[in-house]
Amino acid sequence: MKFKIPRGTSDVIFEKAAKKQYIEKMAIQLFKQFGYYPIVTPTFEHTELFQRGIGEGTDIVQKEMYTFKDKGGRSLTLRPEGTAPVVRAYLENGLASKPLPVKLYYCGQMFRYERPQAGRYREFWQLGVEVLGSKDAFVDAEVILLLVRFLEKLGLKELELNLNSMGCSECGKSFSKALKKYLADKIEHLCEDCKRRAELNPLRVFDCKVKGCQAALKGAPLISGFWCEDCGNHFESVKSILDNVGISYILNPALVRGFDYYTKTTFEIRTPYLGAQNALGGGGRYDSLVEEFGGPSTPAIGWAIGTERVIMAIEELNINLPIKSNIDVFIAAIDGARDEGFKILNAIREMGISADMDYGERSLKGQMKLANKLKASNVIILGPDELNKGLCLIRDMNLGEQSELKISEITRWAKDKFKLRKVDFDG
Ligand code: AMP
Repeated sequence: MKFKIPRGTSDVIFEKAAKKQYIEKMAIQLFKQFGYYPIVTPTFEHTELFQRGIGEGTDIVQKEMYTFKDKGGRSLTLRPEGTAPVVRAYLENGLASKPLPVKLYYCGQMFRYERPQAGRYREFWQLGVEVLGSKDAFVDAEVILLLVRFLEKLGLKELELNLNSMGCSECGKSFSKALKKYLADKIEHLCEDCKRRAELNPLRVFDCKVKGCQAALKGAPLISGFWCEDCGNHFESVKSILDNVGISYILNPALVRGFDYYTKTTFEIRTPYLGAQNALGGGGRYDSLVEEFGGPSTPAIGWAIGTERVIMAIEELNINLPIKSNIDVFIAAIDGARDEGFKILNAIREMGISADMDYGERSLKGQMKLANKLKASNVIILGPDELNKGLCLIRDMNLGEQSELKISEITRWAKDKFKLRKVDFDG
């Protein structure tokens, strides 16, 4: 019986895996540079965490969660996003007693039961940051700057940073009321889902992709008309700090994002190269979530980007990531010389040089072919005759030149040869 991979998931192998690893390493390097610390939370949590955190009325909670009962009868859910688990961990581990703000980053799989298409999967990877314990507008600017710098560092261009503010819960309440009133007049133009949303959680009508619903929203009230003085001032501060550091943005008053927890600053970074799934990442403030989870009043902000979409954009733009795809030394050892070859292989690896040998019982010719396929820049050839004389042959694969060398001289040769080696990007 042949097994097939579940719909909406993927195997990440070779080149794609190398790209993913490069992106993650680069992100982590940048996160550390900005003073963020790693956090790893479980892949599944109690279902209620997401119901309460993301919001009952959201598409994610209503339709997209992988929820199951474990053998003990508990309802668990594969995490659809990273913020609610981080907030839970923040409270459960007493991080509120650390110097605030606590700045965290994560990298991991998320799970959403969505209709798979290019850039939309049921299991996907996110890189994200969360800053808990500061309401400072400089923090908003820092996380946005970090997002933009990261994508720019990868070589992505024409990034469109969409910016909005959802206001605080007070602004949200009056906005919601006005939106409800507006939608009541449009009810017959809305899809069945939105008819329900218009009543229960009118903000979520903005998430609907149905054309009729989008059309019905033309002329709808916008959150910007409902900001209180504090929210308006905060947004002004964020914009002015971004202006100051040269981050350009597009004001998008219709940007609401798909989670209920957002307050104040919200943002999404898009690229024109990805068609329908054009959002690389996004986030915003969630100043009430910690309190919602039973903690002290703790303003917070974060974002997540989708690694697969970043890879897609990189490929779309034909960006060559500086990924090392070859090895430095291949040891071609013929029967009788393999023990010595294995010793040399390990001595070279100990020096931090990438090296490999044949484990497939190939002839010398076959081993040279393999070295070629692995794009080895040098091959050390060992045969019983050379071995008896304490010698080996060294072939420079790029120059096509071959020379004899004493085995005792190999480490000195390797030192000389690779001392000027360009240091690979290392996270
Ligand atoms: P969100 O957690 O919904 O704010 O999404 C943040 C980013 O995660 C998006 O901009 C995408 O890059 C990525 N993402 C969200 N959902 C999916 C999905 N189903 N498949 C692939 N990437 C996704």
